[in-house]
Amino acid sequence: MDKRDTNSKIAELRDFIKDFRIARGWDKYNDPYDVAAALSCEASELLELLLWKKNEDVQALITAEPKLKQRLTEEVADIFAYILVLSDSLNIDLTDAFFSKMRKNSEKYPVINGTCARRKRWLE
Ligand SMILES: [Mg+2]
Repeated sequence: MDKRDTNSKIAELRDFIKDFRIARGWDKYNDPYDVAAALSCEASELLELLLWKKNEDVQALITAEPKLKQRLTEEVADIFAYILVLSDSLNIDLTDAFFSKMRKNSEKYPVINGTCARRKRWLE
C-alpha cells in the first residue's frame, strides 16, 4: 500500500477505517463519547512523547532517535483515525468542516500588513 497525502482522499480514508473496524467487530463502539474519549487518550499519548521537550530538543531527538519519529508518526495516525471515525459517526464532512472553520478563523484573526492583527494588538 503506497498511499501518500498527495494521492489519497478523505473519503477513501473514511471508507478504509470503516471497513477496518467492521472487519474486527469494532464498529459497535462508535458512540461519539467513546470515540472522543479514545481520541483524547491518543492525543495524550502524543503529548507524553513531547512533554518537557523544547522544539530544538525534539528536532535533535528525531534525528538522533528515528524511533521517536516513528512513535510520533504512529500517535498522529491514531489521532487521525479517531477523527475519521468520529466525523463518520457524527456525519461531519471533514473537508467542509475544515474550510468552514478556517474561514471563521481568518475572520477572527485577520492578517493586516503581513501580520495577525490580533497578535499585534496583544503585543502593543
Ligand atoms: Mg496510540
